[in-house]
Amino acid sequence: NRRIVLAERPQGLPDDNTLRLEQADIPTAGKGEMLLRTVYLSLDPYMRGRMNDAKSYAEPVKLGEVMTGQVVAQVVTSDVKGFAEGDYVLAGSGWQDYAVSDGTQVLNLGSDPDHPSWALGIMGMPGYTAYAGLLKIGEPKEGETVVVAAASGPVGATVGQIAKLKGCRVVGVAGGPEKCAHVVDNLGFDACIDHKADDFADQLKQACPDGIDVYFENVGGKVLYGVLPLLNPFARMPVCGMVAWYNLPGLPDAPDMGPVIMGTILRMKVKVQGFIIFDSFGPDTYKEFARDMGQWLKDGKVKYKEQVVEGLENAPKALNDLLEGRSFGKMVVKV
Ligand code: NDP
Repeated sequence: NRRIVLAERPQGLPDDNTLRLEQADIPTAGKGEMLLRTVYLSLDPYMRGRMNDAKSYAEPVKLGEVMTGQVVAQVVTSDVKGFAEGDYVLAGSGWQDYAVSDGTQVLNLGSDPDHPSWALGIMGMPGYTAYAGLLKIGEPKEGETVVVAAASGPVGATVGQIAKLKGCRVVGVAGGPEKCAHVVDNLGFDACIDHKADDFADQLKQACPDGIDVYFENVGGKVLYGVLPLLNPFARMPVCGMVAWYNLPGLPDAPDMGPVIMGTILRMKVKVQGFIIFDSFGPDTYKEFARDMGQWLKDGKVKYKEQVVEGLENAPKALNDLLEGRSFGKMVVKV
């Protein structure tokens, strides 16, 4: 039974000392418990935050503790009502081969789901994040312009495709020509700008001739500063993440952008609202998501790209790839 634990809190990007692969005995499931064998581990940007000993919406991972993460697992043995041997489940058992569970907060996906790993992506947390954040906070209207970065990733790709379905002009931002081509050609965005280009801000301006009505904030940094001057009066900004800043060891030695950010919000009457998907929306929103997304996927109206990395031992490197933009599509590890 391999497991990856947090060995050291990183300063900046995680390095070779941050996570440690350990061997442990396969745990035994007792009365009222089941043994789970991990099939897929989801890698997500929030994992970087859990490595910090900082106040957040969730407790940090303790040193020596198994890294946190959502998994799709298969039931090996079960003494839990509603779970049978061979069932696929969605669980929060983290970066390890095996785990024991009493069934709390475990979702049964059935014995033969079509795409088990999709429960970690388009039909799971990232898909729901895109759906709820865009529709409930962004409130896009037909003909408006929506901008989203990390546009080839699971959240951004889904935000843009839903905005297209709502009749918006959709401009993505992504790293590099290959990702941008995918975003326009396969996902159907109207344009996609490479944030690594020197004239990024000019290109973004040209792609948004009518300004920006909804900026779905995934990354912060240079993209945010390119967006601010283009925001229209009464624009909405669901603040979902800021992955460009997750590895900052401290505040940068740079000009104070507070006046620009707050000045724009004031003058343009921008509605800025942060959200954390686990507790920002009610059960009805989740039901609407599951219904709509299931239908859109069935009808081919939403497309989904996954990157599968083989082997638990490769998860630490894969997480850094994700944080630095070397992933392409939703990153999952086949354990
Ligand atoms: P992705 O799989 O898209 O990975 C992150 C991507 O961010 C990278 O692939 C890279 O894409 C892009 N990126 C990294 N650094 C920069 C940078 N400096 N400038 C611009 N882009 C950068 O992630 P997800 O789709 O899983 O998540 C997207 C965002 O949503 C994250 O911020 C995440 O934390 C947040 N999130 C928030 C939730 C909530 O409840 N609030 C829930 C789920 C996700 P590229 O190469 O294209 O630049």
